[in-house]
Amino acid sequence: MRIDIISCVPQLLESPFQHSILKRAQQKGLVEIHIHNLRDYASDKYKSVDDYAFGHEAGMVLKIEPIAKCLRSLQSQRKYDEIIYTSPDGETFDQKSANRLSLLQNIIILCGHYKGVDERVREHFITKEISIGDYVLSGGELAAAVIADAVIRLIPGVLSDETSALTDSFQDGLIAPPVYTRPADFEGMKVPEILLSGHTAKISAWNLEQSIKRTKERRPALYEKIKHHLSH
Ligand code: SAH
Repeated sequence: MRIDIISCVPQLLESPFQHSILKRAQQKGLVEIHIHNLRDYASDKYKSVDDYAFGHEAGMVLKIEPIAKCLRSLQSQRKYDEIIYTSPDGETFDQKSANRLSLLQNIIILCGHYKGVDERVREHFITKEISIGDYVLSGGELAAAVIADAVIRLIPGVLSDETSALTDSFQDGLIAPPVYTRPADFEGMKVPEILLSGHTAKISAWNLEQSIKRTKERRPALYEKIKHHLSH
């Protein structure tokens, strides 16, 4: 998979992809991440990528020319499955969206800034708009990092334990069960006996029971949606 991220503050995207799981995914050749500085596509001598909003008193808007130039340059090199714009009014990102995106070959994520991007970019270039939640960020960079992270860890081979992503919250419609590590007893706070028993079938049953209990308590709407699939 290849992810191209377009931003006017590319520095904000440096660290998230240079460590841990996302770094290893790139080293293993499972994903390519290319970050593009919008300023490199600005045509005036000041390298300006934003301008005043028509009809509004305050706030700057990202101009269409540099964005169009950058998108066209990328599209002339390969075919993209999706050109995404991060936007608070887009469809809300969830695990299902992450699963779907993880099956694609090439995607572009355009990060807005200031008041957003010129509406004509959204009308004519963007194929999908994604929000990471009902709150407003100062730029799309953190949203792009969130989306890319959730998608990349689903690519087969990225997580060292192949089954690991499958047991995460939401993957099967349930919240993940609690997890523990050593020591088994910390100042009298004990790990549930069952997990130390070595009895695989009982442990699986306990984990499922905990998942169902948590989903019921913490995501009642989700529980209502999937309860008829559960054997209990
Ligand atoms: N004026 C816009 C908000 C601009 S915030 C509005 O009211 O809708 C600046 C940029 O941050 C946006 O263009 C978008 O790219 C990004 N952004 C802000 N909140 C976001 C969210 N919840 N999800 C995804 N991107 C977001």
